[in-house]
Amino acid sequence: MKTSPSSRRGRASREADSLIQLSEGLAQSGSRAEDRFWETRLDVEIDALLATGDEGSLNAALDRLADRESRAYEELADAIEGRVESADVQTNEGSRDLLLFAAPVLAWSRMPLPTRLLSDPIIRSLKKSLAEEVFCDGVDLAVANYFFSPDQLPSSFGETAELRDQLAKALPSGVFEVDPQSLGETAQFLADQRYLLGVASVKKGAPLFLWQEGMLSRDEVLAAWRKSGNESLTHLLPACGFEPMLPRAYYVACRDADRAARPFSVTASVAFLSTSLGIAPNMLIAVIGGCYNRQLEEYRIGFISHSDDEVIHGVVWPLLGPEDEMSDVVEEIETILKEAGVQKIEMLRQRMPMEYCEDCGAPLYPNLEGEMVHAELPEDGESPTQHLH
Ligand SMILES: [Zn+2]
Repeated sequence: MKTSPSSRRGRASREADSLIQLSEGLAQSGSRAEDRFWETRLDVEIDALLATGDEGSLNAALDRLADRESRAYEELADAIEGRVESADVQTNEGSRDLLLFAAPVLAWSRMPLPTRLLSDPIIRSLKKSLAEEVFCDGVDLAVANYFFSPDQLPSSFGETAELRDQLAKALPSGVFEVDPQSLGETAQFLADQRYLLGVASVKKGAPLFLWQEGMLSRDEVLAAWRKSGNESLTHLLPACGFEPMLPRAYYVACRDADRAARPFSVTASVAFLSTSLGIAPNMLIAVIGGCYNRQLEEYRIGFISHSDDEVIHGVVWPLLGPEDEMSDVVEEIETILKEAGVQKIEMLRQRMPMEYCEDCGAPLYPNLEGEMVHAELPEDGESPTQHLH
């Protein structure tokens, strides 16, 4: 049951005050011993708020620290994410560390990208690849039998912690059965992320990931996971280009995927336009516009064919973390476009609105005249992002 925000305001504020005070103490601490003092108290407060589902206080404290541009913001965000994705549990064999992890996959296709239940043989095979190529001996795994889109990931700290607990309960069988009816709708893009989610459990203090043992680097673990998981992922992503990413702790894996998805989408779009429409990359014009709400939120890239000046496709490049208009994001977009073979790039100087199509909800993209327009593929093209009204 949802309570109205106003009825909780007084309490949320007191609890947010306490989180802020502890996070600022931690940010200003001068020793490991003092760090541990603040961390322990912060963990207790965060656990209590997660246990009562008091998402409001957690977010209120984060918002207030973000406004102050305080280093305590990073400390609090790390502490909350840490308490959500990991846990200590007592078992008959002693204490164990639990970690929620994600194995993201970047994918693109001219057909809609699948989100789906995983069959038993596929999940067994992916779990075996993870156990052999990513995690250390002695780590127990439970994996969710679903291939999630970003829209289907848990949306709050509480839901994420609940998923961790559900996965942990599935450790004996190794597979958590997801109810697909409980998941949200998925917006379709040409290129997007998909996620395998699971929980790893290990004897307290023992290494979880193979790179922690010092024999293999993260790059070597990633290469082995890509090779081993390739056949199962090809079954999951038929007629798709895809790129598995390093399985890691949940939040950092999601951030890695969000960041890598931006250049991946641009490269995939150029490949799609040249293979599906036969338009060579050097015949494309890319128009980059910075889109604003109160502040710069994202860049949108409109792709235009030299022959008719219409926007035929678009890509959204959201800003992440501390990025703003002072960051080198436009240079990064231009470099990726050039590497993909696009030679003509226009950067609009004006602030563009974050507009969407009123009929289908698709983002609008900038054209050469500096207007936001609907991307429309030429008649013979096919695309999941094509909408004709
Ligand atoms: Zn539309």
